[in-house]
Formats: sequence, C-alpha cells, structure tokens
Amino acid sequence: MNSIERLESEVRGYCRDFPAMFDRAQGAWLYDEQGNAWLDFFAGAGALNYGHNPAPLKQALLDYLARDGVAHSLDMFSVAKREFLERFQRVILAPRGLEYKVQFTGPTGTNAVEAALKLARKVTGREHILSFTNSFHGMTLGSLAVTGNGFKRRGAGVSLHDVTPMPFDGYLGRDVNTLDYLEAVLDDEGSGVDKPAAVILETVQAEGGVNVAGFEWLKRLAALLKRHGVLLIVDDIQVGCGRTGPFFSFEPAGLKPDIVCLSKSLSGYGVPLAVVLMKPEHDVWAPGEHNGTFRGHNPAFVTAAAALQFWENDALARDTARKAGHVASRLKDLLNHTGMAAAWRGRGLIQGLAFEDAALAGRIAAACVERKLIIETAGVQNDVLKLLPSLTIRDAELDQGLDIIQTCVRDVLDRKARAAA
Ligand code: PLP
Repeated sequence: MNSIERLESEVRGYCRDFPAMFDRAQGAWLYDEQGNAWLDFFAGAGALNYGHNPAPLKQALLDYLARDGVAHSLDMFSVAKREFLERFQRVILAPRGLEYKVQFTGPTGTNAVEAALKLARKVTGREHILSFTNSFHGMTLGSLAVTGNGFKRRGAGVSLHDVTPMPFDGYLGRDVNTLDYLEAVLDDEGSGVDKPAAVILETVQAEGGVNVAGFEWLKRLAALLKRHGVLLIVDDIQVGCGRTGPFFSFEPAGLKPDIVCLSKSLSGYGVPLAVVLMKPEHDVWAPGEHNGTFRGHNPAFVTAAAALQFWENDALARDTARKAGHVASRLKDLLNHTGMAAAWRGRGLIQGLAFEDAALAGRIAAACVERKLIIETAGVQNDVLKLLPSLTIRDAELDQGLDIIQTCVRDVLDRKARAAA
C-alpha cells in the first residue's frame, strides 16, 4: 500500500484501474516513476484533446507565469480574460454564426451544468427539466438530478427532483423513434409531465456508454422544443472542443442551442475551466447572482486562448475525421474477424465496443492496462470499451494502441472459449 492509498479517501477511482505512480506526460504518453511509458487512450476523460503538455500552450503558460501575470482575480477584468474572450469570439463563435454571451462558472463541468439549469429556470420561470436516459452531467445535486446512473444518484443521499428522464435516441431499439414519445408528452396536457424549462442533452452520451444521437433526431428535437418554447441545453463538456470533429458536437446537425456547457478540453492543458454560453436574450442574471471564487482562472484563460490556434483553420477537424475513420474501420474489422457479440458505436474520436457480455469489456480493458494502454469502460454496466485518444495522437501511436486492443480482445475471447470448453 502506498502513502496515497493510506491517506486518500476510499472514494478514489481511476488509480484502482491504472495502478502506476505517474510522474511526467507528453503528447499521447504518460510516464510512471520508474520511467515506464503508458499509451493514453483516455485523455483525461476528455480534458486532454490536444494531448499532454502541448508545447505552444505550455510556452504561453510559462511566459505568463514568468512575467508574474495575475493568477487569481475572481471575476475582475483581466488581460488574460480579455484575450481569451476576444479570441473565442473571433475564432469559434463568429465563423459559426453563433451569438452567445459567456458566463464563467466555477471551473468544473458540474459547475457549468448547475449554472445552466439555474439560468433555464430563471429565464422561463418553470422548475421542471427533462433529461435523457443514461445521461451523465456531474456530481453536484442539480447535475445528479439530470444524470441517469443509479449508483451515482443514490450517492446524493437526498431526493433528486423536478426532473423527468426521457428515452434517448435508440433507447427502445433501432425501430422506435423515441421523440414520438417526447412529442406526445409535450403535446398532451394530460401526460402528467409538467411543462419543462429546458431539455438537457449530450449529443453523444460519453459516460453513459458512447450512445450517439442521430442528426435527424437532434434536428427534430430542436424543432420540437422551439415549438413548445422549451430551452435546449447542450452539455458539450466531454464531446465538445473537437472530440467529434467540429468544435461543437452539434454543428453538423445545424443546431443553435439556447445554452451550451463547455469544460474539460476548453483550457486545452488540463487546467480547470468551464463556461456556460447563452443566447443574449437569455442573459437574465443579476450581477453576482451566481458567483464563485474560481470563476475563470487566468492561467486557464492563457492556455485556452493558446489552444484556439488549433481552430484557426479546419486542419484539426479534418484530421480528426480521418483518424476517426481509421479507428472505426479497425474496430469493425476486429468485430468481423472475431465474430464476437459486440457492437461498434461512435462519432469522431469517441468510439466504443459495446459487449453483450458486459464482463468482457472490463476484462479487455484490464488486459490493455497490463500492456500499458490506458483505456476505460463506460455504460452503467461498464459494458462498453471506450476509446478516447487525444485528437493530436500520431498515426503510429493510434495503431499501436489499436494493436494492443486487438491482441487483448483475442486473448480474452480465447480464454473465455477455453473456460467454456
Ligand atoms: N457533463 C458531461 C457530459 C461529462 O462527461 C462530465 C464529466 O465527465 C461532466 C458533465 C462533469 O464534469 P466534471 O467532472 O468536471 O464536474
């Protein structure tokens, strides 16, 4: 038992899956204290889309610290904030025709979700929110109320209310369009579902098992909500910032959500930063009505502004689409060659293999970790092997990880077959 295991709460999680004492990291690699290299197909659960310690971001941060740039300033004006906001407007919002005001919440994803829910309730004067089955929005009470996972929900220790879960795309099988139900509920005064302030949505449910909403489904959802005067909140915390290819995951569906939550890879460096984007007409906050000590942290503004250089052109988005095609074809080949009872899921560089026998996903992930590939499972049953490499990973590194997955899938299936014989 090391001193962390002795001293840190039992609540610790990832260190149980990845048993190494990590010390340095660069690009797609983590290095443990003994100097062993671990290939990272987890990317800080989506916080490291540009890899570990990307050089231009590191330099910007080092320069800022070296000149005694102000580190902490609550939400006072700061040069670092001004530069981030101006660049975000120029590089991300304006070219996409998106008109949003930016709110800096506390620096984690769940802080942004809490603020978004509060804002939607304030804008509409309604309490009720619709969420989706298998959604994941964070660990504070408001976020837990819109999260599906029963284990996490029970951890709240209090009742979670004012939310009704609706079936996500595909929840009732391929042949059922779940929006028929949502539409019926909203149209029917007798449905028993109070008119909601908002619907909160992940376009790709990441923690919930890499469940992908179709573009047509997304379009119909947005139109339906518009017709009913219900706000659309897109939680792009895990699959925004280029994870699916474009900067925002909802771009290809042509959505313009009322409210968007971003965090994780927004700072680009693993430094905590979160925002809520809101249409200007929804900016009904009174000054200081929602505050926090670490709202917008200047070192994070510096790396976030530097990260926007990845979005000055479409090179990264195109490269992500190319790599995503490669990963998908290798995973589908693996499915075809092994004939295993699993299904491929994904969009961009979030992809997964969903196993009928849930235990297999965990065994394969553990076998990968033994070979020093960091990879996790997702889904409430941990039945999905989830691939989340950095977007900037080199082709050879991507293939190295895919080779390890292929070997481990074969090993685990062989072992299962031998045990059954
Ligand atoms: N929303 C989504 C979609 C997430 O994936 C997560 C975390 O995984 C969160 C919210 C919560 O973010 P945080 O853990 O930073 O509070």
